[in-house]
Amino acid sequence: MATIAIDMDGVMADSTQQYIDWYAARYGVKVEKATLLGKPETTGFPLEGVVRQFLYTPGFFRTKPVIEGAQEVIKALQDKHEVYIVSAAMEFPQSLSEKLAWLEEYFPFISWHNIVFCGYKNIVDADYMIDDHIKNLSAFKGQPLLFTAPHNVNVEGFKRVNTWEEVGQLLL
Ligand SMILES: [Mg+2]
Repeated sequence: MATIAIDMDGVMADSTQQYIDWYAARYGVKVEKATLLGKPETTGFPLEGVVRQFLYTPGFFRTKPVIEGAQEVIKALQDKHEVYIVSAAMEFPQSLSEKLAWLEEYFPFISWHNIVFCGYKNIVDADYMIDDHIKNLSAFKGQPLLFTAPHNVNVEGFKRVNTWEEVGQLLL
């Protein structure tokens, strides 16, 4: 049995798809995911800066699509391990209540006891941390697992998981 800290945005919730969908709805341009590969998160869209503003817009965190396999694998992980959802929610003021409501809708099997909304993740102590940003993984003392996202495809030096299926293969 291990303790596993799981990030939300870019790991459980599909931030990239949400950027693309919101951009298309507001600016009428459907950006291909492939054009965002290797670019810093929220950049790579025709109008620079506007996607960053989505993060401050009510509803953005509440309506993100779930990343494929996250529900099934996290439910299974709970039977074998101690699972905590660890999300840096403090940066975006409205995101905290939206993230909690999102978890209640899509992950009702996760108790509030296992949800940690925080600022920096440096304080987090666990055996594994699954995250899409190395800023969260670099100071981690356990085994970091970099969850593949368009913005991190060129990052090297971290053990990588590309899908929830791969997380299941590793930890179940
Ligand atoms: Mg993230």
